Amino acid sequence: MKGRVHSIETMGMLDGPGIRYIAFLQGCVLRCQFCHNPDTWNIQGGELTDSETLLEDIKSYLPYYQASGGGVTVSGGEPLVQASFVLDLFKKCKEAGIHTTLDTTGIIWSPDVEQLLDYTDLVLLDLKEMDPDKHSKLTGCSNTNVFRFARELEKRQVKVWIRHVVVPGLTDDQAGLEQIGQFIQGMSNVEKVELLPFHKMGEYKWERLGHNYQLGQVSPPTEEEMQAAYACIKPYWPQ
Ligand code: SF4
Repeated sequence: MKGRVHSIETMGMLDGPGIRYIAFLQGCVLRCQFCHNPDTWNIQGGELTDSETLLEDIKSYLPYYQASGGGVTVSGGEPLVQASFVLDLFKKCKEAGIHTTLDTTGIIWSPDVEQLLDYTDLVLLDLKEMDPDKHSKLTGCSNTNVFRFARELEKRQVKVWIRHVVVPGLTDDQAGLEQIGQFIQGMSNVEKVELLPFHKMGEYKWERLGHNYQLGQVSPPTEEEMQAAYACIKPYWPQ
């Protein structure tokens, strides 16, 4: 099966355990105001790549991944846009004994997505906002499917690392962070919670693509602001 791949990183250290092969897929249905990869949005972009070719490439680095407890991470864009392709790739990975991680917002639910969870060892679940109105305003999308996706992860006890991007004045309010904390507290399969500081390294891409970047005046959070954000989550996630 063929899918559209934006780019590959062969020595990823951050997106899952160990050293990882990271495939960034093309296509996203969200339009997050803080997105630093708007060049992944267009599903017609990227390079059409066969899952078998991708697997062969992954296998050429396998000793590094397996020695470090790593594996493969599929990210995006939003990889669930190409859920059937990821399903095909992850099936092949599991047959080859390779650890699989899905870096997603959980924004799409379909039979392929449901089946994909059977071949996924870890999900990096990128929570944008819990409040439906705030989520829509921030991303242009409803978060109804996110809740369903998360429920299914818990039902199947798929391991989850929660992620949330902290944007000063936008996604760092106490009420919103506490809602995330409460949500995490209700999930028995969460292994880790990571708050990621907003940065503007992708701003030039918005301009190059002719999109209006609205956060030009917003600065990345200070260390104190990040600590304050963690403090809001801590009562619900003491680890
Ligand atoms: S989900 Fe990721 S790729 Fe899609 S718009 Fe949001 S930040 Fe960008």
